Amino acid sequence: MPTYSYIAEDPEKGCPACRRGFDLRRPLSRPALESCPLCKQPVKKLISGFNTPKITKPLSVSDAKAAGFTILEKRCDGNYEKL
Ligand SMILES: [Zn+2]
Repeated sequence: MPTYSYIAEDPEKGCPACRRGFDLRRPLSRPALESCPLCKQPVKKLISGFNTPKITKPLSVSDAKAAGFTILEKRCDGNYEKL
């Protein structure tokens, strides 16, 4: 039975489950879930391939540095300063 990931279309209105996304096993024969079983808010199916939804957050300077990137910040005098 395939597992589908769903997340609230409007996370502001969702319950704790669908606000963050949840996985549900459903037979292929069943139509796609359209609302959260808990709070009945509309949900959308996430692209399969991810077991848990990942919210992409902007890379912080420290994260980027940890990943080996060199961060350059433009200074007001027009020069780039290595952070
Ligand atoms: Zn919900």
